[in-house]
Amino acid sequence: MSLLVVGTVAFDAIETPFGKTDKIVGGAASYIALAASYFTNDINLVSVVGDDFPEDFMNTLKKQGVSLDGLQIKQGQKSFFWSGRYHNDMNSRDTLDTQLNVLADFDPIVPDAYKTCDFLMLGNLMPSVQQKVLAQLTKRPKLIVLDTMNFWMDIAMPELLETLKGIDVLTINDSEARQLSGEYSLVKAAQKILAMGPKFLVIKKGEHGALLFNNEEVFIAPALPLEEVFDPTGAGDSFAGGFIGYLSKTKDISFENMKRAIIFGSAMASFTVQKFGTEQLIGLSQEDVDERVQDFVDLVQFDISLI
Ligand code: AMP
Repeated sequence: MSLLVVGTVAFDAIETPFGKTDKIVGGAASYIALAASYFTNDINLVSVVGDDFPEDFMNTLKKQGVSLDGLQIKQGQKSFFWSGRYHNDMNSRDTLDTQLNVLADFDPIVPDAYKTCDFLMLGNLMPSVQQKVLAQLTKRPKLIVLDTMNFWMDIAMPELLETLKGIDVLTINDSEARQLSGEYSLVKAAQKILAMGPKFLVIKKGEHGALLFNNEEVFIAPALPLEEVFDPTGAGDSFAGGFIGYLSKTKDISFENMKRAIIFGSAMASFTVQKFGTEQLIGLSQEDVDERVQDFVDLVQFDISLI
């Protein structure tokens, strides 16, 4: 089933306790599309870059089966740039710089062939742009997943709240859930956020895994305990890509299947953090993905018999 991915295709500069990168390729949509490409080969991308963006990476996306007809290339302009520094725990980070560049006046144009997509992943972007994409679709997708971050909560909360009314699944991290709801307890935060529009809420907790809520149920998945984490950038987006990729492959949007999708999303995130940038998400085999998912299954399996 066709999957439309919208989000940033960008340059990042990252500092972790283990090293530092100059400008490398990143962006929410890059991670989402790469992670989803291990589940479906019907992926369309809507985004914008400047003429400084490497053609090599666009070819990598194409090789992974991602169609780029909706990627605008703005001559004479610079691509979106983000820079961040991770704290020692690698679970929290500070944004050092956000240069919107081409994103500042981005007018997304959804090609006709993408307007009837079955699954829509609205990656982290200004909420007004996410809304403009929704407005261009000629058929409501089977599932709309939206990811956002504190940056947009700080500067565009009213637009974000409006956008949330029309979506199905929201994915945010724990501190963003607290910011959005004004509640410290994640259970109370989930109740408030589900009342804002989404039917499902995924709260990502970095190395502590992820929680899935709807109004009746809750599910928790661990993150894989890894010996080495080099760079958590893109983990949330890779999670989202694996999550929606698996759902679009299986065409089942029940809570039960979303539990499985959370595991596939967590598996894709665990690859991303093992190297800087998108490197580890390129050229994985089906066996690599299957083995990683099996690690998750083994990790949480236990026997209890209650008499
Ligand atoms: P994650 O680590 O999953 O939260 O995502 C990191 C990616 O998000 C990086 O590759 C950045 O390019 C991108 N990013 C950072 N800030 C923003 C923003 N304000 N809007 C959209 N994308 C962003």
